[in-house]
Amino acid sequence: MDKVSELFGINVFNDSVMKEYLPTDVYKILKSTIKEGKTIDSSIADTVASAMKEWAISKGATHFTHWFQPLTGITAEKHDSFISPTDDGHIIMEFSGKELIKGEPDASSFPSGGLRATFEARGYTAWDPSSYAFVKDETLCIPTAFCSYTGEALDQKTPLLRSMDAINKQALRIIKLFGHDDVKRINATVGPEQEYFLVDKAMYEKRPDLIFCGRTLIGSMPPKGQEMDDHYFGVLKPRVAAFMRELDSELWKLGVLAKTEHNEAAPSQHELAPIFTTTNIAADHNQLTMEMMKKTAIRHGLVCLLHEKPFDGVNGSGKHNNWSLSTDTGINFLKPGKNPEENPLFLLSLAAVIKAVDEHQELLRISVATAGNDHRLGANEAPPAIISIFLGEELTDVLTSIAKGVHHDNTERIKMNMGSEVIPSIRKDNTDRNRTSPFAFTGNKFEFRMLGSASSISDTNVMLNTMVAEVFSIFADRLEKAEDFKKEINLIIKEVVEQNGRIIFNGDGYSEEWEREAEKRGLLNLRSTVDAIPLLKSEKNIEMFEKHKVLNRTELNSRVDIILENYTKILHIEALTLIDMMNREVIPAITAYTDKLCRAVLNKNSLGGINSTVERELIARLSAANKEIFTLTSELKMAVASAEKATTVLDKSRLYHDKILSLMVDIRKYADSAESVMPSDCWPYPSYGDLLFSI
Ligand code: ADP
Ligand code: MG
Repeated sequence: MDKVSELFGINVFNDSVMKEYLPTDVYKILKSTIKEGKTIDSSIADTVASAMKEWAISKGATHFTHWFQPLTGITAEKHDSFISPTDDGHIIMEFSGKELIKGEPDASSFPSGGLRATFEARGYTAWDPSSYAFVKDETLCIPTAFCSYTGEALDQKTPLLRSMDAINKQALRIIKLFGHDDVKRINATVGPEQEYFLVDKAMYEKRPDLIFCGRTLIGSMPPKGQEMDDHYFGVLKPRVAAFMRELDSELWKLGVLAKTEHNEAAPSQHELAPIFTTTNIAADHNQLTMEMMKKTAIRHGLVCLLHEKPFDGVNGSGKHNNWSLSTDTGINFLKPGKNPEENPLFLLSLAAVIKAVDEHQELLRISVATAGNDHRLGANEAPPAIISIFLGEELTDVLTSIAKGVHHDNTERIKMNMGSEVIPSIRKDNTDRNRTSPFAFTGNKFEFRMLGSASSISDTNVMLNTMVAEVFSIFADRLEKAEDFKKEINLIIKEVVEQNGRIIFNGDGYSEEWEREAEKRGLLNLRSTVDAIPLLKSEKNIEMFEKHKVLNRTELNSRVDIILENYTKILHIEALTLIDMMNREVIPAITAYTDKLCRAVLNKNSLGGINSTVERELIARLSAANKEIFTLTSELKMAVASAEKATTVLDKSRLYHDKILSLMVDIRKYADSAESVMPSDCWPYPSYGDLLFSI
């Protein structure tokens, strides 16, 4: 075996390990539980737990943890050791079925958005057998969902698993109508591409803004940015290449299908793409990927920045959520085949996604709304905050022809000749990726590009699964009753084109004309987290999430509070960090330097009037900037104090958004202008140039 296949999954309690460690009958029960997404049969739990423990100990594990994703956005672990005392004063290594299936971390330290007040403080974690357990840092990690004692979801995974059941249920109804009676399970498949920055650790440690906020709060632009396009897919620097190689093998050991690693558009920016898998595994693996990126970077003297906008004026980082639907028998609902116009399952699925995205635009927008991502969306290098779908001309034509009841002429299909016999001619549009579209059809899947680099992909997929499940349920209700199945499909497509066609936009999503055009079409343009989040608990959304048993009213209400609360906490930390940086470093540095200049002027004068225009001009400019910084910093301090007094979390987040963010931008403007005329050894922090070009 080659090195990679030897390495792959060695720390994962996967199918082949289960087969080896479990009695055949138990293995069979567990396997069908996993494959069909059923609840675990508790009678096999002890056997599975003991096999898991034995295997984990053979991998050097001494502890176990229920690994879960509370609404803080990162993964949580509570480590327990396997040891259990014996009567004779020794210990044995023990792990029971009960400990495998259910854990009881103290829920009170995790955000619950009021659920804690209404319900019990305690919460429990429950094993998700469909995502394999793994060993990491001498600990057996068991992927789990995290709920309150009364069953309310307190995490990312619970609604994700529920949404997977919802889409499975409705998509099964659809696939049965097409005669595929052998299909048992339909899963949404997801491949998230992950962007990140690497900076030198020594530089990082000199920037309190990076340490506390994950992004720079000040910094003037270096002479060279990303305009040369020499970084994108450029040759990897040796240190970065070594990091990527180690990251790949760390991820492979954990069974993560890391596939491609390359540079991105900005200097020091990179991307990792995995091979797609089922939704909940993709979400778990993306969490692991982010964790391993951070850990591996440190070993190479680097720091991995996952923030959406670490550097102002430089490309931000996102995630691309590639999403499709597949049956356990291998049918991809979104695969057009050679003749998409003769593939009714594909056309119906396409229509379902179009209708879902148009009618639930706000949900996709909400799923990517964070303080960090607000700096990226709507800026020039990221998708706009407006949701639209790129289909490509050909598919758009196919759909409109059906809507008009005319035959789509495929002899006129545009072929793009690549100018070489070796490269086969590619059908234009099918692969012509419109990079400016937030939601693009890319061959056999949809790619949603608005996700922030630091967030979990769970929310987005909860929305996608539920929205499409909802539309499928409407379609299935009609098709199950239809007298003429084919005619009804055509009618559905016609209605979708007429009623939801406004969401399709194949042009430049970054242009100002599009913003105006989108407004005319009545599409939403939710600019910030504060604009978007409250819509989550609209009656329309509550009704849909309750209908598909994904989230109930209480859970949705609590989520709105938690997300807004997180938003204000982040801005609170950012504001305090900026105040601290200004008061303790920037203002004193500018004062010290102007003082030096003043002494230079005096010296020149004492030598008999040597020209000191430059010094005087600099003194004037820097003193003016310093005064502004001083005044605005005091204003910011007061604004923070008054925002903290707001009575509702919505008021508070509005104040942070409207008042505090803009004060921070103003302060930054003056600080950056001062930095750009100060000698580098008088400035307290490493510059953008140092951070972006030092590796
Ligand atoms: P890009 O040009 O955007 O880099 P790629 O072809 O490299 O696109 O694929 C991007 C991602 O899409 C990969 O993670 C890949 O595994 C994933 N992907 C491919 N097919 C599917 C599918 N059917 N469902 C979900 N994700 C998919
Ligand atoms: Mg992509």
